[in-house]
Amino acid sequence: MLWYYCILCLIAYHFFVLLFVWSYWKTIFTIPMNPTKEFHLSYADKELIEREPRGESQQDVLRRLAKDLPVYTRTMSGAIRYCDRCQLVKPDRCHHCSVCDKCILKMDHHCPWVNNCVGFSNYKFFLLFLAYSLLYCLFIVATDLQYFIKFWTNGLPDTQAKFHIMFLFFAAAMFSVSLSSLFGYHCWLVCKNRSTLEAFRSPVFRHGTDKNGFSLGFSKNLRQVFGDEKKYWLLPIFTSLGDGCSFPTCLVNQDPEQASTPSGTNVAAKSADNHQFPAKPLRESQSHLLTDTQSWTESSCNEEKGKLGMITRMTIEKET
Ligand SMILES: [Zn+2]
Ligand SMILES: [Zn+2]
Repeated sequence: MLWYYCILCLIAYHFFVLLFVWSYWKTIFTIPMNPTKEFHLSYADKELIEREPRGESQQDVLRRLAKDLPVYTRTMSGAIRYCDRCQLVKPDRCHHCSVCDKCILKMDHHCPWVNNCVGFSNYKFFLLFLAYSLLYCLFIVATDLQYFIKFWTNGLPDTQAKFHIMFLFFAAAMFSVSLSSLFGYHCWLVCKNRSTLEAFRSPVFRHGTDKNGFSLGFSKNLRQVFGDEKKYWLLPIFTSLGDGCSFPTCLVNQDPEQASTPSGTNVAAKSADNHQFPAKPLRESQSHLLTDTQSWTESSCNEEKGKLGMITRMTIEKET
């Protein structure tokens, strides 16, 4: 019976170690994604902005650029989000990391434990790293517990090894406590579709601040990070939905200055010419991130319609 238990422990231990190291490796060595070239300023625009670094004319240039981009978030003062360092229009959920000195797509935080930025490209890996390291520590605590009790009841032989048992137990138990709180917090963030930065400061949309602006409901929020195929959910393989530059939102309160939508095929836009929709959030929105429609870069069919007036557009998700 003992050998059976030993083999089981050995298999479980190596299983946890393998997945822990694999996800840790992927979190560390996945290069964070930066905004694509569409968000960067052209040479002429850079010159224009440098000539007038502050004020309305800078905003005019940025507004003209953002018109063709899927940018829905704004600064607290309602201006287009612009990064001086990288000289680009910041995509939604993108932030400049002062450590990496780059704009990171869907930046969550810069993590000293992995010496890397946690963002769109490695957030799933980071979550799995937390989960597997927690399981690993709990496994150590569980298997070490009986020897730890023997240590205090003088049931262990008086060798150096007895102190190893005690140290191992304390280290694993302490990491378990801190990892479980961090993992629990990030599970809550995933359910709400928020990054750590957004949890501290809610994203600002054209109509105002909304902490649930990117939330699509529990199931869809989960799929945003882990993807559609459940068989890959527990493996550190990239399966997150979208391109990291544009995100579906339940509040498609379209900026009338915004030419294109991230959805590409805007179902409601056709009727928007005739109907005034109330500016209230929709729970469901269509996005190419969740469906396989054309990407926002190709969608300029609504350009003219967007200039027709103060029409609030809404898009409705096609159930797939
Ligand atoms: Zn930047
Ligand atoms: Zn960073």
